[in-house]
Amino acid sequence: MMELLFLLLPVAAASGWWIARRSAKWSSSERCERAPTFFRGLNYLLNEQPDKAIDVFLKLAEMDSETVETHLALGSLFRRRGEVDRAIRIHQNLVARQSLSLSQRGFALYELGRDYMLAGLFDRAESLFNELVEMELQQQRALRGLIEIYQAEKEWPRCLEMAERLQRISDEPLSTEIAQYHCEMAEECLRTGETDSARAHLLDAQSVDADCIRASMLQAQMEMTAGDAETAALLYRRVVERGPRYLPAMLPGLLECWRRLGRKQVAGELQSFFDMHPSPPLMLELSEAIEREQGIDAALVFLEDYLCEHADLAGAERLLELRMRLRNSAGQGDAILLQVLRQLLALQPVHQCEHCGFEARALHWQCPSCKRWGSIKAVEPYPIANPAVLKQRRIS
Ligand SMILES: [Zn+2]
Repeated sequence: MMELLFLLLPVAAASGWWIARRSAKWSSSERCERAPTFFRGLNYLLNEQPDKAIDVFLKLAEMDSETVETHLALGSLFRRRGEVDRAIRIHQNLVARQSLSLSQRGFALYELGRDYMLAGLFDRAESLFNELVEMELQQQRALRGLIEIYQAEKEWPRCLEMAERLQRISDEPLSTEIAQYHCEMAEECLRTGETDSARAHLLDAQSVDADCIRASMLQAQMEMTAGDAETAALLYRRVVERGPRYLPAMLPGLLECWRRLGRKQVAGELQSFFDMHPSPPLMLELSEAIEREQGIDAALVFLEDYLCEHADLAGAERLLELRMRLRNSAGQGDAILLQVLRQLLALQPVHQCEHCGFEARALHWQCPSCKRWGSIKAVEPYPIANPAVLKQRRIS
């Protein structure tokens, strides 16, 4: 629906003006015929019937080839249907008209820029959006378009420049994006060994977004590389407290910290994280730690408690595997069940975008689907519908 609203923007913004202006030129019979047709087209758009809307606007365009708004609507509709060549032709013809007002030129140039983006002609889109920014026409949307282009090209300093510019002229909060661009630049600096610059970018990230989990994780990794596992462990702990849903992503780094510090007993601290925010990767790590430190029976009790509250395949697989190990043998049924669980587990996502539902095995800081930053988090286990009944059965 939002996409549709954006599509309607150039049409709706000018529709009142359109009716007023055209009405002055039309005869009363033309007025009776065309104004309702225009609104019928709008109505089709609102009812998400783009094919019918195209028919109406095409008819209107034939009746009056001068109408800018009709052509804007048609161009947007063709682009929405994936007919980008037709959209480009319509918008190019519009832009070539000398009679356009400044605001109409802004709309048409922006729409042409969107066409170019869809066609993969980023250099042309970029130059149009830059032109709009300089002319202060459609400035915010053009800056957003430039950010999209630079993100796709991984031009992080330019993303940062555009986002800061956009933030200055709009009410849009962009601190999350700006912090992520600093983190991207910090990672690039780390790859090329520029640790001072990396550190500066991470400080900048935290100054614009104090809750930037990624910046703290990168700082912890830098401390580990520098050989300061103690500071790294403190930083990881701070990250866990502020963003427990990112724990699966930082678990390997944290365990490596503890290994370097020579810590043998880790189950207690893992348990405190687990109490804060249980997740399948943490459950697996904790069950292993409990088995190492307290024995297989304690690990079995932990897993049974966990499964009484969470419908989780990873937990079921680990419990079955431990039971088979404890018996030191496997019945054919157990082996088949283990195989089924493992196969289903391999298909399960570890992370999911909170905004669009995109599923991934690895953590992405920017969702590959909806392009949001920081919206992908570790998948949480499903809660059991009636944990009390299960626990009761276990006791009896
Ligand atoms: Zn998404």
